[in-house]
Amino acid sequence: MDTTSRQLFEKAQAVIPGGVNSPVRACHNVDSQPLFIAEAHGCHLTDVDGRQYIDFVLSWGPMILGHDEPSVTRAVCDAAHRGTSYGAPCPDEVKLAEAVVAAMPSLEMVRMVNSGTEATMSALRLARAVTKRDKVLKFVGCYHGHADPFLAAAGSGLATFSIPGTPGVPAAVVADTLLAPYNDLDAVKECFARHGESIAAIIVEPVAANMGLVLPKPGFLEGLRAICDQHQSLLIFDEVITGFRAAFGGAQARFKVDPDLTTFGKIIGGGLPVGAFGGKRRFMELIAPRGGVYQAGTLSGNPLAMAAGLATLGILKKSDYAALEDRTRAFAFSLRDIITSKGVPLQMPTLASMFCPYFSEHEVTDFASAQKCDQKLFTSFYKQMRAQGIYLAPSGYETGMVSFAHTDDDFSRALDAARKVLF
Ligand code: PLP
Repeated sequence: MDTTSRQLFEKAQAVIPGGVNSPVRACHNVDSQPLFIAEAHGCHLTDVDGRQYIDFVLSWGPMILGHDEPSVTRAVCDAAHRGTSYGAPCPDEVKLAEAVVAAMPSLEMVRMVNSGTEATMSALRLARAVTKRDKVLKFVGCYHGHADPFLAAAGSGLATFSIPGTPGVPAAVVADTLLAPYNDLDAVKECFARHGESIAAIIVEPVAANMGLVLPKPGFLEGLRAICDQHQSLLIFDEVITGFRAAFGGAQARFKVDPDLTTFGKIIGGGLPVGAFGGKRRFMELIAPRGGVYQAGTLSGNPLAMAAGLATLGILKKSDYAALEDRTRAFAFSLRDIITSKGVPLQMPTLASMFCPYFSEHEVTDFASAQKCDQKLFTSFYKQMRAQGIYLAPSGYETGMVSFAHTDDDFSRALDAARKVLF
């Protein structure tokens, strides 16, 4: 059937590589084509063909309040009427910085940037400057954006497309990136035994949400903290997804582990392009112009983005995270029961407002076990759900997201759709 989405995708492919501005959106992995979205309100998307979907992707995380939340939209419109960019400081960037620092237990200072990728690359530069060391340890299957040093066996889009290596990234750049399996403290210890004196930092998603949803084993995050302390390396929590989602105070509040540096994105921009990195004052004061570590951005602290973030955090501060977690778990477990009752093996980890259907008989604890999931079953599930108006992430390596805008009716419509899926 020819649809407007299809026609747009045809046109897009002539002028945009692969027809999309971020690879996983192409839906290749689930043997589908992208839907072009015309508008979104609450947890509902409407595509350019007028079809409605219940959204469990939420722009990959930012829209925890749902789309077009009235006071966020109003804040953005009001800000736009005052000008869209000044290239000079504005009041809202101070307020947003204060709000982020107040919410996150480990933070004393924060610098705004424009994406999660910028946040992680800047945090790594700072860690390298602080320690005067070059190596960074990351975990296989964790995604920290598309900056060169992190593109060694990364998850998310790369895992989805099984790209071998990373063309365009000099071998010398990733030579300083060490890899360990997620949740494997022994492997981390081994790495430090060999390279401890040259490791600037460990960077970790405190809850791994780019290989599906892998929870940290009890003691894993605490163990990383202890190893970093022992070797005078910095611990960087990449909270681009978990910040203001795992809890209002992020995964660091939830698991009570104190990172040296933290990166943010997604929710803190309320759907506009934002990232941030922050941490202890003694480190952050090394950033230019206070210190010598260069970091900059034409649009950093953009007034529209700051207004959206501030309005979002203002609402989240008063929101009932525990209730959202309960509702997410109840929904996800009902979904699991419906699928397993059809004789299909499924794991359904959940945390806060995230869930992930892994088509596997075995618990998923790292990237290797995530890769053992049955992607054919996921693809079949994805397609049949989408045909019934349920919009899931187009990859078995992404986490499902729930917003404060999802109602019981949205959940029951999604469960009804799952009941009709044939495997
Ligand atoms: N870190 C994590 C944990 C992410 O999930 C992402 C993106 O999904 C990034 C960093 C990169 O953020 P951005 O896409 O805004 O550059």
